[in-house]
Amino acid sequence: MKRRDFLKTVGAGIVSLTIPGCSNNLISSSKSSGQDKPNVLFIMSDDHTSQAISAYGGMLASVCPTPNIDRIAKEGILFENCFVTNSICTPSRSAIFTGNYSHVNGVYKFTALDQRQPTLPKLMQKAGYHTAFVGKYHLHSNPVGLDHWSILPGQGRYHNPQFVEKGDQHPSGWVEDGNRTTYKGHSSDVIADKALDYLKNARPKDKPFMFFCHFKAPHDTWEFAERYSDFLEDVEIPEPANLFDDYKGRSDMLRKQLQYIGSEWGDHTNFEEETRHLQGKAKKKMQYQLYMKKYLRCVKGVDDNVGRILDYLDRSGLAENTIVMYTGDQGFFLGEHGLYDKRIMYEEALRMPFLVRWPRHIKPASKTKGMILNVDFAPTILEAAGVKKHPKMQGRSFVPLLMGRIPPDWRTSMYYRYYYSHFETEPHYGVRTYTHKLIYFNRIDQWELYDLVKDPHEMNNVYDNPEYQQVVRTLTKELKRLQNELGDDPNDIGDNPNIGELADSLRD
Ligand code: CA
Repeated sequence: MKRRDFLKTVGAGIVSLTIPGCSNNLISSSKSSGQDKPNVLFIMSDDHTSQAISAYGGMLASVCPTPNIDRIAKEGILFENCFVTNSICTPSRSAIFTGNYSHVNGVYKFTALDQRQPTLPKLMQKAGYHTAFVGKYHLHSNPVGLDHWSILPGQGRYHNPQFVEKGDQHPSGWVEDGNRTTYKGHSSDVIADKALDYLKNARPKDKPFMFFCHFKAPHDTWEFAERYSDFLEDVEIPEPANLFDDYKGRSDMLRKQLQYIGSEWGDHTNFEEETRHLQGKAKKKMQYQLYMKKYLRCVKGVDDNVGRILDYLDRSGLAENTIVMYTGDQGFFLGEHGLYDKRIMYEEALRMPFLVRWPRHIKPASKTKGMILNVDFAPTILEAAGVKKHPKMQGRSFVPLLMGRIPPDWRTSMYYRYYYSHFETEPHYGVRTYTHKLIYFNRIDQWELYDLVKDPHEMNNVYDNPEYQQVVRTLTKELKRLQNELGDDPNDIGDNPNIGELADSLRD
């Protein structure tokens, strides 16, 4: 079936693949001319999810507001439907750098990014940008295409973090093996200090900059700065309605995985000592409180430091011509389905926060439901900077969406695939539209289907419901169409990272 026919069929009222609440005017893309190229500040935190950003609303907005991150949305645009293509750190970071899905960039799991392929920093550097990176990198290989960098090796440390800096890299190519310099303080504060130093002193003033500022927080094990010890101390964090999800009617994945609150695997939310006196639900409730307080104290540290950086942009006059983007490398469970962490294609782990400020082009306080993906970030930044994307990049620039307009041929569905790593979370792939989500757990051959309009919290698997059989057929076809369009082989389970073949074919 041709794409147009497909859209016609599903537009007949079975699965809506239209884009709600948006006009469909195609606009010409924004061009930046010569001297006036915008600077780009790309701020990313690790595991910071939209439920913990007050601009997204929700039950935590009043408990732990994030006024500084919210400023980006107040003065710019908030994306309600930004999704990750593989919800785990290194693969998402690789998708962001390459504009390609895991099966194309070769990073399915925690393997090193082959830096011979075209990447956002390399293309921006080639176009005359000064390119810089500070903070958590987690691509394992030595950076390429960066003029200035200071990187936490591996996961990095929360307190008194060590950095490998440009010139200290190891000749093996493995950035973790480089010489390390230790800095005193909490990683979020040190990263912001380093960001400010770059903006104030280290960057050349006669070039536009592409600057990645990547916080380590709020990744586990949520070690917050001392000054936040009392924050939320006497507050009871509200619980999601499905904290005690019994997993009824769902695939075996939920029953097999180990990323539930209280899990002894990884021991991050077990809090054995503090909850030893409790049993059953009371124990889990306490584990949830302890987990959330640690997580939100880390979020508070990130938000305060984002404020320091935004204030400097204002004071220095850089704000006007600097695109500021804020995101997390994937979504994260904050107790929904009784879970923490990521990986699973459910809404909380699939949705990335994404907020952009660009005073010259974006109407303040804008919002869009237009569906964007992490693979779109690189093409978007390149277009905003007036740089051509590499022809093999699978992502698509959403510059028109920044201006509040959605091209008529914009995507109405997205493809997701998670391979396998720890936490015993079954590999799966699936498709999400604006109204439905179909997930296939390929190793155990089980399906889940959710009606996101009637069941936004994904509690009712309707895959076997007779009323949804037309939806099952439509989405199964759409899933295959996306796999075909993106060149993903369902049998490629990611056991042979293509550091070599595919990445090699993309060498620039
Ligand atoms: Ca992450």
